[in-house]
Amino acid sequence: MGVQATANLPAMKTNPKFIFFTDFDGTITLQDSNDYMTDNIGYGREKRVQGNQDTLSGKINFRDSFREMMESVSKPYSECIQYLVDNIKLDPHFKEFFQWALENNVPVVVLSSGMEPIIKALLKSLVGPDAEKMEVLGNYVKARPGKSIDEEGGWEIEFRHPESGFGHDKSVALRQYSSLPEDVRPTMFYAGDGVSDLSAARETDLLFAKKGHDLITYCAKESVPFTVFGDWSSILEKCKEIVEGKTTVQDAAHEGFEAYKAGKAGIEPIFS
Ligand SMILES: [Mg+2]
Repeated sequence: MGVQATANLPAMKTNPKFIFFTDFDGTITLQDSNDYMTDNIGYGREKRVQGNQDTLSGKINFRDSFREMMESVSKPYSECIQYLVDNIKLDPHFKEFFQWALENNVPVVVLSSGMEPIIKALLKSLVGPDAEKMEVLGNYVKARPGKSIDEEGGWEIEFRHPESGFGHDKSVALRQYSSLPEDVRPTMFYAGDGVSDLSAARETDLLFAKKGHDLITYCAKESVPFTVFGDWSSILEKCKEIVEGKTTVQDAAHEGFEAYKAGKAGIEPIFS
């Protein structure tokens, strides 16, 4: 049964005890590549920030707000990719984390609301050839009717889960792992920073939430176990402790909540 359940899960091929799932934009990268495109070659920062606020307050869902952002960018797709490769930077400690993960049989799976071709191009340019060892699950891009993606106004986003208000419902992939039989199910980590991670937050054993970001408030309110990270050096340190058995995911999550309550999570604590 275990074999059958894991047959379509590439990250299970090496029978890992731990898997690290992660958001891409603003988590692995320092800037959000989609925000960057929208602000600089799309309809601009002001409209984009308003869209984010409307998503948080529930006026519009993430999928529709994100589609509007992408529709405001008309440059040919190949130019968009090059523009981002030239401008987006990686968290300075991610590479070190990823090397450790490769050496310790901790598969890294990227779950993103961005488009796969952009994410793969950025990872390849920023991490190097090893980036191919990371599984990337995101949304897609397609040509508009009668056009090619590499002409002006020629592309549009194609959502992985068009029926979901998230566009890509990250919980779908995560549940394939969390529902595995007890004897094969790995311990699941997740790292994220924002709205696009809400659909993932409840599904893993330990969530790393980026310091000073909205995801922390959500996790504390919804009692989702989390720990706070500033950059990938703190994620690496904590993962090492857990993988080496020096601490448990439960203790790490408890620490996260204590840090939040003490006001050390870069965000004002709310007590309900
Ligand atoms: Mg993000």
